[in-house]
Amino acid sequence: MIFKIVCPECKTEGSFSLSDQHYQGPYRCWKCRELYTILIEDGELESCEPLSPEEFQRQQEIEALKRKFRNPG
Ligand SMILES: [Zn+2]
Repeated sequence: MIFKIVCPECKTEGSFSLSDQHYQGPYRCWKCRELYTILIEDGELESCEPLSPEEFQRQQEIEALKRKFRNPG
């Protein structure tokens, strides 16, 4: 599904593709490049917290590790 999200910073609508109704992770506004951690439950936006670039980097590393464990070689 495509989830539409409005950036709290610049009010630009962005779309976000989801593989299911639940998602928690980073979102970056395509326009102002602001980063957020978003939580989507049942296709509804539950929370949207500003995310620092350092934290974003850390989350990307965690995701990369998860992928590695999911597909071991
Ligand atoms: Zn924005």
